[in-house]
Amino acid sequence: MVHEYEAIIVGAGGAGLYAAMEASARARTAVISKLYPMRSHTGAAQGGIGAALGNVEEDRPEWHAFDTVKGGDYLVDQSAAILLAEDAVRAVYDLENRGLPFNRTPQGRIDQRRFGGHTRNFGEAPVRRSCYAADRTGHMILQTLYQQCIKSGVEFFDEFHVLDVLIEGRKCRGVVALELATGEVHTFKAKAVLFATGGFGRMFRITSNALANTGDGPAVCARRGVPLEDMEFFQFHPTGIRGLGILITEAARGEGGILRNRKGERFMERYAPTLLDLAPRDMISRAILTELRSGNGMRGDGRIDDYVLLDTTHLGREVMEKKLPDITGFSRTYLGIDPTDTPIPIQPTAHYAMGGIPTDMDGRVLADGDGSVYEGLYAAGECACVSVHGANRLGTNSLVDLVVFGRRAGRHIADFVRKADLGPVPRDADEPARADMAKLLDGARGPHGGEIADEMEIVMMEKVGIFRNQADLDAAVDKVSELRGRWTEVRAQDGSRRFNRDILGILELRNLLDLSLLTATAARQRTESRGGHARDDYPERNDAQWLTHSLAWLQDGRVRMGAKAVDITQWKPKPRKY
Ligand SMILES: Cc1cc2nc3c(=O)[nH]c(=O)nc-3n(C[C@H](O)[C@H](O)[C@H](O)COP(=O)(O)OP(=O)(O)OC[C@H]3O[C@@H](n4cnc5c(N)ncnc54)[C@H](O)[C@@H]3O)c2cc1C
Repeated sequence: MVHEYEAIIVGAGGAGLYAAMEASARARTAVISKLYPMRSHTGAAQGGIGAALGNVEEDRPEWHAFDTVKGGDYLVDQSAAILLAEDAVRAVYDLENRGLPFNRTPQGRIDQRRFGGHTRNFGEAPVRRSCYAADRTGHMILQTLYQQCIKSGVEFFDEFHVLDVLIEGRKCRGVVALELATGEVHTFKAKAVLFATGGFGRMFRITSNALANTGDGPAVCARRGVPLEDMEFFQFHPTGIRGLGILITEAARGEGGILRNRKGERFMERYAPTLLDLAPRDMISRAILTELRSGNGMRGDGRIDDYVLLDTTHLGREVMEKKLPDITGFSRTYLGIDPTDTPIPIQPTAHYAMGGIPTDMDGRVLADGDGSVYEGLYAAGECACVSVHGANRLGTNSLVDLVVFGRRAGRHIADFVRKADLGPVPRDADEPARADMAKLLDGARGPHGGEIADEMEIVMMEKVGIFRNQADLDAAVDKVSELRGRWTEVRAQDGSRRFNRDILGILELRNLLDLSLLTATAARQRTESRGGHARDDYPERNDAQWLTHSLAWLQDGRVRMGAKAVDITQWKPKPRKY
């Protein structure tokens, strides 16, 4: 079946819904989502959205922008960070006006709390910058934006899984998607397509990311020749529930929670004497691993799966139940403990992709390091790289990124489609997607995708995790290449057409394998340590050689690396101390 729209938005998380809401003001717009919109991963965002409102103490967008640049270890594009911090204030009031039920101060203003790496006066002390709705902020953003999209007449194709993007030269013509309920393949012609498909934490064994976070947008684009930016930078959040990876929000430390090792020491005093437990995530994750390696984990055996404790017992029942109800519930449900009287066992969990589809500040996808763009192709949210997070994202800055850059992309699309024509799409545009599906169902016997997924997750966790080195990265590249070869032999075991999760899982696995290869190869190339990329064999940041974004092209099963300049218009790089 063939559909025609002016704008197609792939993804119904915060970025996709904001873009759709804006685009629909002047363009016939449809959202395609493999999940029901309300199940998008934005709904899991707990702690808050950062904006220098200054409601509870003095704050300024300039301080927010500086923290973002320093937090990202100076790989952040500074004009984009300044725009993010300035527009965050407007964006939060906009969400409030559209109905988002933020927590309030006694005076009735939006309440704000502390978060890692957010400081006053360029690093002096933590500042209250995170605006929040208990620990359900993302869920409230989704509810607010979805109802606004319905009001604006956006059309939704729920449970449609995008398999391919139609690109001719440097022009995007549409996408091809599988309808889950029927197994039918649909072609969507469009003047503009925006990818907002979220993150890809599922390539790691321990992750805070949902099953659906398989990086479909970046992988589909990469297979059609689009480069991906800064793929070596993947953030590990310090406080995942031990063994499960489910997130305990940084807001628990923002409210006063303390990390302790087996000796009961507040070990962050040794690693970040000023910000302590509110240092940026990359530093705390490394500190935890260093404690484990030195035998200071709770088991004390020095192994990577040992753990430390997050102590919230002194915060009191009222704070936990009013401001952190979800994580209180998670601890009871998944660990059988009450965090008001027992510390929570935690270990770092793979959390956020700083890299992704390169874009300019209007969401237009870049084709190279010189600023050339694809016409009609856009990206926003976690699958994109604008780049405001550089080598390490600060907490609360993803939700800001979604609404600031989702909005800008939506507005650009609304203008663009006025001038653009609906380009020709060949009749057989869906043929590659159909051929992929037919091969999976050809009745041949093949290995089970689940085994390949297990091996991928383990090699990425052990060799491309928090600490990396040359030998491990060489081994990871070889292993992932071998797994990609084995993937071509996988066949579906379920031959039915309706709701065939087996086929979807296999196609999602291909996306994760492609992104794993790009991540491991980019990490191998970068012989320095910066933000979320820490090399045991190159422990120092090396600005002379590496103050540059990486670009990675997937070509004939191999990765070609390139570079893109970093925008350093405001703050010169300095050593990163907290
Ligand atoms: C547990 C947790 C807590 C977090 N807390 C915070 C926080 O407090 N503050 C903060 O700033 N950030 C937080 N983050 C990060 C933030 O929530 C995410 O980065 C952000 O929500 C991603 O939004 P998105 O719109 O880019 O994508 P998502 O919300 O992940 O949405 C992706 C959409 O793409 C669709 N999709 C994917 N693939 C396809 C396909 N092939 N075809 C069709 N549709 C597809 C999905 O159906 C979905 O609708 C948290 C993350 C986690 C995991």
